[in-house]
Amino acid sequence: MANKEINAEKIIDGKIISSKVLKEVSESIIQIKSNGLEPCLAVVLVGNDPASSVYVRNKKLMCEKVGIKSIDFNLDERISEEELLDIIINLNKDKTTNGILVQFPLPSHIDKQKIINTISPDKDVDGLHPINAGRLMNNVETLVPCTPQGCMIMLRTCLDDLSGKNAVVIGRSNLVGRPMCQLLTNSDCTVTQVHSKTINIEDFISQADILIAAIGIPKFVRAEWLKDRSVIIDVGINRISDKSEGNNKKKLVGDVDFDEAIKKVAAITPVPGGVGLMTVACLMRNTLIATTLQM
Ligand code: NAD
Repeated sequence: MANKEINAEKIIDGKIISSKVLKEVSESIIQIKSNGLEPCLAVVLVGNDPASSVYVRNKKLMCEKVGIKSIDFNLDERISEEELLDIIINLNKDKTTNGILVQFPLPSHIDKQKIINTISPDKDVDGLHPINAGRLMNNVETLVPCTPQGCMIMLRTCLDDLSGKNAVVIGRSNLVGRPMCQLLTNSDCTVTQVHSKTINIEDFISQADILIAAIGIPKFVRAEWLKDRSVIIDVGINRISDKSEGNNKKKLVGDVDFDEAIKKVAAITPVPGGVGLMTVACLMRNTLIATTLQM
């Protein structure tokens, strides 16, 4: 019992932290609306991928909750790249649309980078446009990708000063790993990025005061690799079969062996109930920022 209580204190609770972010966003939106403006996010979904449909539905529900208008573009998976680009170009021009979210993955006949490059940087709520990535690299204010932005907010709830900390980021995607490294560098951490080709990955992980895991392999990071009293942010979302239920049920786990890691570390994010909630909250935050950029 006592152990459980101690461990509960170590959990970086995405529900509590994302609620605070959402409350701040809602309050700012009330202000903006009192000036006669209505923040609006265009949500573009191509095809019927079930996971994407769930993500899009959650994002739209959250928009409703915080007072952001959302408009849907549910497009046939056979839509041509040119037609999709036209939709984005029109949304760029539309003064009543403040943010554009294109849900990935896209069908293979559409060039994802071309789509990202076409979204106006000021409406790029995913923060993936090369101009926004460049601004992040130059450490100037910009629309920052939602997941790493959420990770930083979580980190700051348990570490007052990030300066000089050894941070290890596992993964190098444009969505998570790369911007994460940049944000940590901008906060004066000493950053090491490791990935699928890294040799002896555990040697790097064992030096980390801060570990960000964004891999996509269930329970990849073992507790014995972790530094004592480190802070762990688990970005991974992996669906595995839940043997304890004795049937075909699936459950979500992260990239870190949470049950063992929590005994060793200072703080850790759970999956579910961690980074995922922050990602949606930061999307709302980015839509607010995009709206103010266009005012
Ligand atoms: P990705 O597939 O684009 O990148 C995965 C990265 O992991 C790659 O850079 C690769 O080098 C690295 N990797 C793969 N195998 C490895 C290995 N054996 N050792 C070390 N590194 C290895 O994925 P992504 O978009 O960056 O997402 C990573 C994970 O985070 C996935 O589980 C994804 O579902 C999850 N995710 C969660 C959220 C959220 O809101 N919580 C948001 C985005 C992604």
